[in-house]
Amino acid sequence: ILITFEGPEGAGKTTVLQHVLPELAKQDIDIITTREPGGIRIAESIREIILAPENTAIDGKTELLLFAAARRQHLNEKVLPALADGKLVIIDRFIDSSVAYQGYARDIPVSDVEMINNFATDGLLPDLTLYFDVDTAVGLARVMTGDREVNRLDLEAQEMHEKVRAGYQKIAVLHPERIITIDASQELDQVIADTLLAIKTKFPE
Ligand code: C5P
Ligand code: MG
Repeated sequence: ILITFEGPEGAGKTTVLQHVLPELAKQDIDIITTREPGGIRIAESIREIILAPENTAIDGKTELLLFAAARRQHLNEKVLPALADGKLVIIDRFIDSSVAYQGYARDIPVSDVEMINNFATDGLLPDLTLYFDVDTAVGLARVMTGDREVNRLDLEAQEMHEKVRAGYQKIAVLHPERIITIDASQELDQVIADTLLAIKTKFPE
């Protein structure tokens, strides 16, 4: 089973993932969690290239292709073998990040982003995607006050982040068969509870 966590900056994806993991681990299934871009050495190297502060020359299409390269390598080395072993794999970000960021926010035609996604993944889709929806200003405030490292892309204009959110909302409407929206502006405990409920409803034991 493949589950992906999606959402804009400061939605809390990573934090929620850390909290739901021990709960899910109570069930009789092996779980691995990983992230994009990254998760394996080669993809983490690509991530460094994308996020390095000095790499402002990277344009939207180059960014799209770098994310796609990282995605494919990560799938081949880590995700597909785990799925073949019958594990539950949870990825922090996947194909919808590319559609929201490089497509809706960076104005690459969404159909092109989908084509590149499809090329990189050979059409693999998540069984379930949880989209963590948060008001842009609330999300950005969390990023700035949190203890995480703020990267090059976090610092972009609020307008860009608004487009990311609007993009995700469209994607969620277009793919209701696999995407569940979680209200991530709630208190953390409630977000965690909603997340567990969504996963358990979709996969009852
Ligand atoms: O998920 P995480 O916050 O670690 O993502 C790293 C950075 O890459 C973030 O700033 C995110 O906004 C950005 N990103 C992006 N396009 C993607 C995926 C992530 O611009 N497709
Ligand atoms: Mg993040």
